[in-house]
Amino acid sequence: MRVPIIAGNWKMNKDVQEAVSFVKQVKDELPPANQLETAIAGPTLCLVPMVKAAGKSPLKIMAENCYYKDDGAYTGETSPYALYQAGIHHVILGHSERRTYFNESDDMINKKVKAALKNGLCPIVCCDDTMGRRVTGKKVHWVVSRILADVHGLTDDEICHVTIAYEPSWAIGTGESADPDQAAEGCYLIRQTISDMYGDNVANDVRILYGGSVTTANINALMEKQDIDGVLVGAASLNPATFLQLVHH
Ligand code: 13P
Repeated sequence: MRVPIIAGNWKMNKDVQEAVSFVKQVKDELPPANQLETAIAGPTLCLVPMVKAAGKSPLKIMAENCYYKDDGAYTGETSPYALYQAGIHHVILGHSERRTYFNESDDMINKKVKAALKNGLCPIVCCDDTMGRRVTGKKVHWVVSRILADVHGLTDDEICHVTIAYEPSWAIGTGESADPDQAAEGCYLIRQTISDMYGDNVANDVRILYGGSVTTANINALMEKQDIDGVLVGAASLNPATFLQLVHH
């Protein structure tokens, strides 16, 4: 069974004090992780204090990125090995902002996914979808080539530790969410792609999230869809009360 997940992605927002204060405000108000998983991805500087503040609560603290080497002369990068040692067991990879502003290629993201898994981190692999490249009907979707490239070469066991987030670039930070049917179509297509690669049993185990202008107003309609196992929320995850409303939608 796929446990649903409500995950926040703070991006480059909040300082350490704000991050810790948020965690303290929400951590005792969350459902047990076997019913609904809750997670927040914060800026690297905030992660260790957030893990400490979360303590034994169900809230998972996630990194927003990592490099594909464990150590070495890579000034400014974050080691997946060091993240795991610090108690961070989840990492977002391939967010469209990383692809657009930092030129991350599918090849680099594939290396990062493999390095994260090797170190025990569960990746949330983001898959964007620019309207211009989408040819519905012919089933030629940009998301398919993204998925094929980003999870290329993973074993059945490894892909089961991956969560995929369908995040159309035109919906990110614009206030213009995909409508629930569009969002479900993207998630369905990703599941079909995983099924083609790994078979139905594996595809039924992989969680697929929707992200892009999710709010308290549209979360119910999105979460009702069969192929949407959760949401990855940017702006609406920054306020503790709003995050709790999303969790208890
Ligand atoms: P918004 O919810 O602010 O549109 O951001 C979505 C996102 O990028 C989550 O990763």
